[in-house]
Order: sequence, then C-alpha cells, then structure tokens
Amino acid sequence: MMGRTHLVVGMVGAFDLALMTHTPISLLGLAVAGTTSLLPDLDEEHSMLGRRLGGKVGAGLIGAAITAGAVYLRSWPTVPVGLAIAGIPHLRHRGLTHSLLAVGLLAIYLHWLSATIHDPSVLLMGVAGYGLHLLADFTTNRGIPALEPITSRRFGFRLMDTGSPFESLASMVPIMVGLWYGLSHHVF
Ligand SMILES: [Zn+2]
Repeated sequence: MMGRTHLVVGMVGAFDLALMTHTPISLLGLAVAGTTSLLPDLDEEHSMLGRRLGGKVGAGLIGAAITAGAVYLRSWPTVPVGLAIAGIPHLRHRGLTHSLLAVGLLAIYLHWLSATIHDPSVLLMGVAGYGLHLLADFTTNRGIPALEPITSRRFGFRLMDTGSPFESLASMVPIMVGLWYGLSHHVF
C-alpha cells in the first residue's frame, strides 16, 4: 500500500478513535500518529519515510546521531527513536515491523512516553496509526507476517493489489467514519 494512503488512513483513523474514546487530541498525538502510520515501511528504502531519511545509509547516520545526542543529553525517551530509525531499514521488508510483536513493543514504549509527558493521545493515536497500517496491509494481496518471529507465514484478506483503485477508496473509509461519527454526535 502506498505511503500517502497509510498516512491518511492512520492520521484520520487515529483522530476518529480519539474522538470516540473522548481522549483529548493534541498536535503531538497527531504528529505521532502520522509518523507511526509510515513507520512499518521504514524497512523499505523507497518508502515515503525511507526516502526522506536517505535510505539505509542516511537513516543509519541520522538514527546513530539521534541516539548519541539523546544519551549525551540524558533524554532517555528519545533513545529508542534513534535506535528504531537506525535499525529498522536493515530488517527484511514486511517482516518483523508488520507483526503483532512490533505493535506490542510500540505500545509499551508509547505507554511510558505518554505517562512521562502526560499526554494520553500519544499512546492512543500512536498505536492507532501503526495498527491501522498493519490492518490496511492485511487487506492487500501480500498480507502480513502477523506472528513473526514465530512463523513468517503471511495472513490477510487479500482484497486488493497495492496501487489499485480500491486503495484510494480505502483511504476514504476513516474519513467517512469520522464524518458519520462527528455528524451523528453533533461534534461538528
Ligand atoms: Zn507496510
């Protein structure tokens, strides 16, 4: 699935979820949702995030610099961010980053980050952004290895090909859900 579809589905879907669970929505939460919606494909050099970080070499250097800076400044919540940027591009595409284990690890990290900075939207919207990426890939012909590293068997509905017209329709789903919820609950 294309980066911009993931970005729209992740950010709008996370926004909807925060609205429905009455979680205060912050700009940081939205930014985290946008980032986590693209994060699983950082294991692919030509992905939206991979390109912007300069591929394997660029991401490795940026990640190492962030990690070193975070350790120097004792900014511990930033250390896993640096390690993820440096390490993920070296993983097999649609491998570990597209597993339930990755969602679990991200949830543990964001739970800690949310509590540290007192912003509950970071946990909810960040996990939603990542989870919706996996859910969207689950509907494509390639599926996802949800149980990696136990098995690399791929699971999915295999409803559509990446880049197919259905993909544009998929990004409309969270927009329609948000509109429906907003209108039916007089949010707008
Ligand atoms: Zn993906």
